[in-house]
Amino acid sequence: MDKEYVVIGLGRFGGSIVRELNALDMDVMAIDSNEERVNEYSDIATHAVVANTTDEAVMKSLGIRNFDHVIVAIGENIQSSTLTTLILKELGVKKVTAKAQNDYHAKILNKIGADTVVHPERDMGRRIAHNVASASVLDYLELADEHSIVEIKTSEKMAGQSIVELDARAQFGINIIAIKRGSEFIVAPDPNMNIEIGDILIIIGHDNDLDRFEKKIVR
Ligand code: ATP
Repeated sequence: MDKEYVVIGLGRFGGSIVRELNALDMDVMAIDSNEERVNEYSDIATHAVVANTTDEAVMKSLGIRNFDHVIVAIGENIQSSTLTTLILKELGVKKVTAKAQNDYHAKILNKIGADTVVHPERDMGRRIAHNVASASVLDYLELADEHSIVEIKTSEKMAGQSIVELDARAQFGINIIAIKRGSEFIVAPDPNMNIEIGDILIIIGHDNDLDRFEKKIVR
């Protein structure tokens, strides 16, 4: 049986999750206390419901605990977001993903049992900062505290060298996990493969090691 999702809060963030789940042919219930917002999603979501999710009785009547995964996309109203998350966990919802507005909000969400806490604005801000701060860093994805995956554009300095010759693993403790070459995407590249100018390296490692590699080898 396909999984069933609930998205609470139909702002830009929650709304885009509902649209994307619908495009992926998933069943999704969309909930908001604002009737106009709910009406916007009546043709997109499997069910669109006007409800105040801080009311435990309402949540019970919606049978919320039978859904596989609930996404709390309320950001601005921290009280609504935390109370909703608390009720979901107390009612026994297995998987709750909640959006945090700031670090304190994230701490509270973690403490009350949110399974995943996301910071879309902060994360996108960081990605853009890494991208604009260095001409060679094309994209940046934070995996865990201080560990990331980056996309780095190869420089003339690197061209013609093999992955073995770059010695990135031994010298910097980082791993080149894939290479984008034109329309080709080479996963787990052969270490003897020569790097060409224009290649985009996808590298995983500690932020400090990635930074050292970028400064010493790429620039
Ligand atoms: P975004 O940044 O995603 O565009 P937003 O700025 O429009 O969001 P938020 O305050 O983050 O607004 O809230 C998102 C949605 O959550 C709003 O449409 C709001 O009506 C809804 N919402 C807030 N509190 C509750 C609640 N207790 N029950 C149901 N929906 C709620």
